[in-house]
Amino acid sequence: MKKIFLTFLMLLVLIGCKTNPFTGKSTLNFYSNSQMFPMAFSQYDQFLGENKVVKGTSDAQMITKVGQRIASAAERWLDANGYPGYLKDYQWEYNLVQDETVNAWCMPGGKIVFYTGILPIAQNETGIAVVMGHEVAHALADHGAQRMSAGTLQQIGAVAGNVAIQDDKTRGLFNQAYGVGSQIGVMLPFSRNHETEADRIGLQIMAIAGYNPDEAAKLWQRMKAESGGQAPPEFLSTHPSNDTRISNLTAWAPAAKQEARKFGVTSFK
Ligand SMILES: [Zn+2]
Repeated sequence: MKKIFLTFLMLLVLIGCKTNPFTGKSTLNFYSNSQMFPMAFSQYDQFLGENKVVKGTSDAQMITKVGQRIASAAERWLDANGYPGYLKDYQWEYNLVQDETVNAWCMPGGKIVFYTGILPIAQNETGIAVVMGHEVAHALADHGAQRMSAGTLQQIGAVAGNVAIQDDKTRGLFNQAYGVGSQIGVMLPFSRNHETEADRIGLQIMAIAGYNPDEAAKLWQRMKAESGGQAPPEFLSTHPSNDTRISNLTAWAPAAKQEARKFGVTSFK
């Protein structure tokens, strides 16, 4: 029985491996967009219904503008690298929420929220692009679904024999991964690997969108400076940071600019 179970588990892992277009790496993910996106879309709408969405201000317009530029850059990159249609199920949405929490996130399928509290640290359009590129990268690379897949394996392991992935379990894992039900709707911290991936992908996308990737390391330095204060940024609780991150971003910026030049981008703001 145990052997059959282990075989099943291995099969599940094999079926569940997808290639990440941005890294070329094979990753564990057995949740499809058609499973993830409806959950994300309904949770997103619920979140917007329960929070104060800022409309029509220059800040709100800025979030939308940067979001659209980042999404368009991601699409151009995917098209050019043999992944046309990768974003076909995405329903991009960019909202600014009136809340002094220092936070921003992107749910699967392109559902983005910025909190007004992160704007002073972002400082300007390019700073917003750093955060936007990073958050969008988590969504593009299916990091949430990968974390849920790992969680599913744990659950299956915990209840050996009861191997069906039931709908309510899936929803429970989603809620856990995206902090649904908690007060501020934050996610569990990403792993260091996922953070590094999102940094690298985000840097590339922001450069293709015409934003200066040299600004990324500076944004994280500002975030780090805030971490010693009385109210450390919520963003850092889901985005554990370190000096390696800042030196990586500095080191990768020239390559991101080089990549952007392939798309005809020669100056960065
Ligand atoms: Zn992150």
